[in-house]
Amino acid sequence: MADSLKLKILGCDGGEMAGYATPSILLDESILLDAGSFGGVLDFDQQLAIDHVVLSHAHLDHSKDLAFFSDLIIGHRAKPVKIHASVDTLKILRRHFFNNQLWPDFFVLPNPEAPVLREAPILPGKSFTLGSIVFRAFEVNHPVPTLGFIVRSPTGTFIYSGDTGPTDEIWCAAKRLRNLKLVMMECKFPSEMQLVADAAGHLTPQTLAKELQKLGDVQVPVYVYHIKPERHLKVVSELKAMGDERLKILKVGDEFLV
Ligand SMILES: [Zn+2]
Ligand SMILES: [Zn+2]
Repeated sequence: MADSLKLKILGCDGGEMAGYATPSILLDESILLDAGSFGGVLDFDQQLAIDHVVLSHAHLDHSKDLAFFSDLIIGHRAKPVKIHASVDTLKILRRHFFNNQLWPDFFVLPNPEAPVLREAPILPGKSFTLGSIVFRAFEVNHPVPTLGFIVRSPTGTFIYSGDTGPTDEIWCAAKRLRNLKLVMMECKFPSEMQLVADAAGHLTPQTLAKELQKLGDVQVPVYVYHIKPERHLKVVSELKAMGDERLKILKVGDEFLV
């Protein structure tokens, strides 16, 4: 029987304070989906085992731990770690993050022939394969170019919305999926902050309810993530009040087989 894909949630919150960590999901042992908070939880060998990092977008809550990761693993790996991201995201990372000012340029260090990190551009709408896992990227609705993903393993499929306000394309594609096992949908603010959420390209429980309608009556667990830590109770109580049995709250430490 084909192997299923193991997901381990290392971070899934819309900010950091004690007990909360920004999005980062370990897929099997060697792929990281977003790079918010993983450095503090993976030991040296676990970090060395990461061959691929797939980024939804450049915002620091999804990329910041690449800084200490690159510095930790330099000189310890034979092959560069591939950073799979849109051309725009890679440009932002190179220009504003790994620019030898904010942080050393690990895309050329220790030498350009064998750097620590290597760019692997993703084309929206297209699929790419890492081992037996197929990623399909969709542009979603956020102030900077951002991708959501439909990820297929040999035994099932899951959806990761990325940071997004109301969006359509990924939910359209979701309706046609067979073997969908779970959906991870963002929701950052309580509904009373709708104006802020709209401006920042995030969902509230009231706009998330409309996104759920776009999914139709697909009966799969929908794990909500990227909730602002200090507004967690409020957002969770609003989500519970929606009475949709599919809704669950994603937590750091959760593990799934897909
Ligand atoms: Zn963002
Ligand atoms: Zn974010």
